Amino acid sequence: MSQIPVPIEIHRDDHQIVLKWSAEHETVFPARDLRLACQCAQCRDEMSGTVLLSPSSVPQDVRPVSIQLVGAYGFQVEWSDGHGTGIYTYESLYPATEEDGGLGTDL
Ligand SMILES: [Zn+2]
Repeated sequence: MSQIPVPIEIHRDDHQIVLKWSAEHETVFPARDLRLACQCAQCRDEMSGTVLLSPSSVPQDVRPVSIQLVGAYGFQVEWSDGHGTGIYTYESLYPATEEDGGLGTDL
């Protein structure tokens, strides 16, 4: 498992972001869950990993406005709440196992 997974397609709509890993495998990430999981320095303490972002500050209907690919390892999302500094790596989003409950839902 040293190879970093890269999705063949990324879709977004107002409610979710879908990463398609292969023809039969895609994972759905609810928009707000992904926004709350932001790993940037404003949302999370880089040293301790403590979450700095208050969930109550993120609108229930937050949605991805645009997605920018970052190199071959991830993407950056511009959110409707004005936040856009977080980078989501494919490695962190790829489900570790078939049963992985994680952040996304496997289809
Ligand atoms: Zn952030």
